[in-house]
Amino acid sequence: MAMSRPDPLQARSREGRRKAAGPAHLVISNSSIDSDGVYTTEIIKKGSLVSEYTGTRMTCDEADALYDNHPRTYLFGLTDGKHVIDGEGAAAFINHSCDPNCEVDEVDGRVYITAIRDIEPGEEITYDYNLYDGDLEDLALCLCGAENCRGSMYAPREIERRAKAVKRREQAARKKGRSIKPGGRRGRR
Ligand SMILES: [Zn+2]
Repeated sequence: MAMSRPDPLQARSREGRRKAAGPAHLVISNSSIDSDGVYTTEIIKKGSLVSEYTGTRMTCDEADALYDNHPRTYLFGLTDGKHVIDGEGAAAFINHSCDPNCEVDEVDGRVYITAIRDIEPGEEITYDYNLYDGDLEDLALCLCGAENCRGSMYAPREIERRAKAVKRREQAARKKGRSIKPGGRRGRR
């Protein structure tokens, strides 16, 4: 039986993602948060479904192979920690905000974006990415501009974990530095 694998070129095409169906009142347009964002042309009431995060499901390993060294991906990590959705359609373009108007819920491996307050026509749709497991070099800086912006798209717990990891790395570097320094006393002569 032939395995159905995502075609890398198709998967990487931005235009291909845009064409995928999404709710009619969601439009993709320039955003001050990031290059593109998603806006609503109609009022969205608190608690209502904004969009499902649709796309090809794959394992994290498959995604790593497909997007190795790609600066920008549209991958949504599922809570099992082993699978991601390679986003297609409007939901893949929704930006992060530290003061979002939506939240994401995962139900049976499907991801839904729901309004947590009323959203006015023309407002940008956002949710908190709460990123985790990023490389220490990948700062995932946030430019959402919210008053409570934490400066990073990482989850608060992940920010703590990263700060500790950086500290450990610095301590290790210092130790190493000491051990290779030539011995001898230092001080004023
Ligand atoms: Zn922010």
